[in-house]
Amino acid sequence: MARLVISRSRNARVYAAELTSGVRYLGYIPPEEAQSLINEVVRSTWWKKRSSIREVIFTYTGTKRQSGHARVEDGIGYIDLCSGLMHEGLIAHEMTHIMVDSAYDGMEDDDDHGPAFCRGEVDYYKRWLGPTSSLLLKQSFAINELL
Ligand SMILES: [Zn+2]
Repeated sequence: MARLVISRSRNARVYAAELTSGVRYLGYIPPEEAQSLINEVVRSTWWKKRSSIREVIFTYTGTKRQSGHARVEDGIGYIDLCSGLMHEGLIAHEMTHIMVDSAYDGMEDDDDHGPAFCRGEVDYYKRWLGPTSSLLLKQSFAINELL
């Protein structure tokens, strides 16, 4: 695992660290199964200890616009994912935004991916995607000085 020097923006370094750890595109999930996966997380004691959000609504945006998005409005979380991002790793990323209260409007930027986000994502992986993927992600964040 190498330190990445190709990008200086924290935002891009977080994406790259996820990618090189091998977890960003972990576990393809069909769009029709994403909501039930999210519901399982939101209803868990684990989630309730970490977030006051009690409902997260998933929208599949298809192939039109290649992006992922998380936001909170009036106490409800919203996650949008396109066809190319239908992976548990991406759901983990967007759920972490909601969990650590760094959901955003519009474009993601460096403030949305601070150390609290990175620690939260490692925590999320440990519970929902397993200790090995969590450790890989943690090592990749650490080597890129993102924790
Ligand atoms: Zn993000």
